[in-house]
Amino acid sequence: MLQLSIPLHFLGMMYRELRQALTDIERMFGLLAVNEDVADAPDARELPPGPASVRFEAVRFAYDPRRPILHDVDFQVPAGATVAVVGHSGSGKSTLARLLYRFYDVQGGAIRVNGEDIRKLTQSSLRAAIGIVPQDTVLFNDTLYYNILYGRPEAGRAEVEAAAEAAQLGDFIARLPAGFDTRVGERGLKLSGGEKQRVAIARALLKDPAILIFDEATSALDSKTEKAIQAQLERAAAGRTALVIAHRLSTVMNADEIIVLDQGRIVERGTHAALLAHGEHYARMWALQQQEAERAEGSA
Ligand code: ADP
Ligand code: MG
Repeated sequence: MLQLSIPLHFLGMMYRELRQALTDIERMFGLLAVNEDVADAPDARELPPGPASVRFEAVRFAYDPRRPILHDVDFQVPAGATVAVVGHSGSGKSTLARLLYRFYDVQGGAIRVNGEDIRKLTQSSLRAAIGIVPQDTVLFNDTLYYNILYGRPEAGRAEVEAAAEAAQLGDFIARLPAGFDTRVGERGLKLSGGEKQRVAIARALLKDPAILIFDEATSALDSKTEKAIQAQLERAAAGRTALVIAHRLSTVMNADEIIVLDQGRIVERGTHAALLAHGEHYARMWALQQQEAERAEGSA
């Protein structure tokens, strides 16, 4: 029994990893109808360009019906505001991002953009309005230039360079013999997690979308690069609707609202100051991370 269950478990893991990688590729290509559960309604409407508000309305979701992941998740991101979602690994944060991008459909409640249920919008217009910096970035087997250009294929050279600069990739690219023309990906130069993350950030900055989702966008960066990029991300989010998923709480202190997710439920919400004063989940996570930061400094 044991011998059988281990390989099955392993296969399950492989499948999940493959699925996750496909999710990222899907996001990058904005491919339509790859997930046959999600399709345009016959009378689907275009989401008009311009500022967009986001509302999760009593959202329920499960990948597997036997294991609910989100329970009546309810919050909104007013147009131009920044809302952060924090919580332990596995609490359902990335799932929120996948649902907003409509890689899956909700099973209860609704997600609305500008008041419209996203199931009534064309996927192409919804996805055109959203830029995601995912947790794990997949690069194409192509040049760095193309990998950034993918964010907005009609962009010009100067715009691509500016996006790379804003994502703190300027020096890195300048040091490469072939610069922007360096091939990356599986069959090219292997980039570190932090470098890949910066390519994803450059891509999102170039796309210039109404809605930005950062899914632990700075988690793979060292703390110096993180500080530099953090400022850029905050600048990028200014005036845009931003959903910021974060592990490190220092990156979400300035959010208009912070949502604390625990096992798929919102257990606390408020500003950084209000949550600290509340002295519960967020305050405990904050104290823990402060201790970790101090220990790290002490040992440096
Ligand atoms: P977080 O981003 O907060 O770490 P996720 O939203 O990625 O959490 O995952 C929430 C839960 O859903 C986890 O228990 C995870 O194992 C599960 N999960 C995530 N993706 C899938 C998937 N594609 N299929 C099945 N279960 C999944
Ligand atoms: Mg996640």
